[in-house]
Formats: sequence, structure tokens, C-alpha cells
Amino acid sequence: MLPVERRHRIKELIQQFKSIKISDLSTQLGVSEMTVHRDIKPLIEDGTIIKTFGGISLASNDQTVYQNGCKLCHRTVEDRMAYRLILSNHQVETFCCAHCGILRHQQLSDEDVVQAICHDFLTGTTTSAYHAVYVMDTSLDMQCCKPQVLPFQWGSHAEKFVTGFGGDVYSFNEANERLISQMHTGADCCSTGEE
Ligand SMILES: [Zn+2]
Ligand SMILES: [Zn+2]
Repeated sequence: MLPVERRHRIKELIQQFKSIKISDLSTQLGVSEMTVHRDIKPLIEDGTIIKTFGGISLASNDQTVYQNGCKLCHRTVEDRMAYRLILSNHQVETFCCAHCGILRHQQLSDEDVVQAICHDFLTGTTTSAYHAVYVMDTSLDMQCCKPQVLPFQWGSHAEKFVTGFGGDVYSFNEANERLISQMHTGADCCSTGEE
């Protein structure tokens, strides 16, 4: 099989199984795991799939993932605002926005979370939540959870954004702390965590 054919086959398999082990792909395709890693690289880069512990998962706009809405506050999830946690048990948790995603993220240990994914607020590009920057206290209201947290892939875009709409730019860790402190000062929020 040519690499392009294998990639096509990997896409079919991942659509079917949602998540699959590298070792299984290696068996299915009759190539080494190293070759599988090389084959899936472009699929990870273009956001089709997500790397998990020992395997891959469908990044997917698959509606079934969103059936129950945000895992934390049960709002309907729009892909553009969605924040996803890929867990070490191969579960994918989807949240309505970075607010809920970060709050849930804080409840989990580092070993639980394989990957955290969000979308650049301007371009919609999939980006790692750890590397993203976050705009808070801005005047633009996206009508989701408060305090609002908007992710950006590039710090320079976030800076330009706050020039127009106001607010401040934070790193992942800073946004975590800021969110917690704002919640403690009694800002109203979609979720009390008591549901
Ligand atoms: Zn939510
Ligand atoms: Zn939300």
C-alpha cells in the first residue's frame, strides 16, 4: 500500500472505531509502528485525529460527542468555542467553552489528561490548550459561561484583540489562577459544580 492509501485506510478505521491503538493500526496495515507514526503525523497536524496514550482518536465534528452538551454545565456545544480533554482512559470530554474546560481540567491530575484542545477564537484552528493564550475581562460577550475565557493560538492576535475589545491576555496557568480567583469572589457562573 502507498502511504496515501494507508492514510485513507487509517481515516476509515478511525471513523469506524473513534479511537484505535498504534499497535492495532500496525497490524491492520501490515507496516511497522514507526511507519504508522509517520502516516498519522499529517492527520494530527490537520486536526483530523488526536494523539492519545498509545493510540489515536477522532478529533471529529461528530455529533454523538456533543449529544449531552457540555460535560460541566450541559449547554449546547458549538465547535468553535469547544474545549476538549482527551483522557488517559481514551474518553473524550467536551465542554462549551474554555471556562468549563479549564474548570474541569483543574479537577483532574496530570496523568488523567493526555491532551487538552481548544480552538483559536479568531481562526477556529485547533490548538493545544497549554500553548494557547487566553483573553479575559473583555467587552465582547459570547453569551457562554462567566467569567468568560477566550482562547487564542497566537499571543500577537490576542494583543490586537484586546486593543479593540479590551481585556487582558493570560497564559494557560495564569488563566487558571485568574478563573479560580474570579469564581471565589462570587462572579456568577453557569455551573456550581453541584449538579
Ligand atoms: Zn459549559
Ligand atoms: Zn461555556
